[in-house]
Amino acid sequence: MSKTVFFNIPAQGHINPALPVVRELVQRGETIICVNTEDTRAAHEATGATFIAYPHIPTMEGLINNAGGGNLADNALELVKIAEFIMPWVLELLEREKPDTVLFDSLASWGRQAANKLGIPGAASISTFVITPSSMPPVPPLTLLNMLGSIVVRMPAYWQTAWRMRQKFGVKGVGLAGALSNTGAMNIVYTSSKFQPASEKLGSTYKFVGPSLAERKDDSGFPFEAITGSPVVYISLGTINNDNLDFYRQCFEAFGHHPAQFILSAGKRTDINALGTIPANFIVRNFVPQLEILKRVDVFVTHGGMNSVHEGLYYNVPLIVIPQQLEQGLVAQQVVNHGAGVALANNAPFGQTTAPMLRAALEQVLAQKAQYHAAAVLLGESLRAAGGYQRAAGELIAFGQQHSIER
Ligand code: UDP
Repeated sequence: MSKTVFFNIPAQGHINPALPVVRELVQRGETIICVNTEDTRAAHEATGATFIAYPHIPTMEGLINNAGGGNLADNALELVKIAEFIMPWVLELLEREKPDTVLFDSLASWGRQAANKLGIPGAASISTFVITPSSMPPVPPLTLLNMLGSIVVRMPAYWQTAWRMRQKFGVKGVGLAGALSNTGAMNIVYTSSKFQPASEKLGSTYKFVGPSLAERKDDSGFPFEAITGSPVVYISLGTINNDNLDFYRQCFEAFGHHPAQFILSAGKRTDINALGTIPANFIVRNFVPQLEILKRVDVFVTHGGMNSVHEGLYYNVPLIVIPQQLEQGLVAQQVVNHGAGVALANNAPFGQTTAPMLRAALEQVLAQKAQYHAAAVLLGESLRAAGGYQRAAGELIAFGQQHSIER
């Protein structure tokens, strides 16, 4: 039995896959202390784990809410600054709790840095593709140039912060790009090796466990009995970049007279009344029980969030991916490469769709549904076979045991 402190970030896409793993670890007798923001306490405590809230981090909420809108280098710099802000608290927590291992989300560099400094074995929880120089899929030259440019102009601020952290706390910097892709001595990756780009170039420390899906508590009151149409199409932009009224109105325009039924998750910050007249073939809600919905739909129009895409494929649903930012663009490209769907507006500026584009994409997928479905089934099989949260828990326990022998 070992004790693990798990540093995560307060984003649904990072918490959702981690919670079933935590629950499984607790059920197998491990002691897990989850660290996240106070508003996530109930979800964490429901797993049986101990929960400790981060102190108030003024920039965290803005960072999460703006994750796609902002530029990736800005996000990385913001995360490095959060690491500096929070490091004394993190070090103090680890010195007090004396865990056997530390688990950190790939964006929570503070967990990695503090574990390294204190000599505690550290593993990463990676809810995106693994992005390393060897596994980075090709990005269009202009996008690459923009990325490099925005990294270069932020390097002086990064160096200053990293230098201060070394002076004040004795922790090593993770690099600006590294702040978005922290890895550990072992890495739990919630995708399959088939779906991860260039997985064969990544070493054995990467455990591709597939999506970590468990039954979710549903108090949404979603009217499942109202799903009576055929085909049924589910539309969601996820939980972050979702207050996009223009896009939802475009969907109404594109599909309001389409012979299909549509379920639209409009996001918790969207005022549904502000969307105007909702077509009769739409069910619109701020948040829906996505896993249950996906079991019942024919096509999923998604922003390409890693969790949403996995969840869709897990249930063999062909996808129309409309990425809102670069990382989602990479996910969209993999979906297209495997033939499991189509991607729209898959280059910067992302998310620029029109009603005719949306209609044409849906018509294309429905016209060749058998083909897209077969490809989704193949990816779905790879995801279902990867082991999920049970395998992740097993790998983490083995990691703890191996390191307790070594220490
Ligand atoms: N989700 C949900 N209901 C909704 C919208 C989203 O349950 O109405 C869940 C979805 O199942 C997924 C997560 O929220 O697990 C979104 O994560 P993803 O990585 O797809 O996108 P993000 O929100 O991080 O952009």
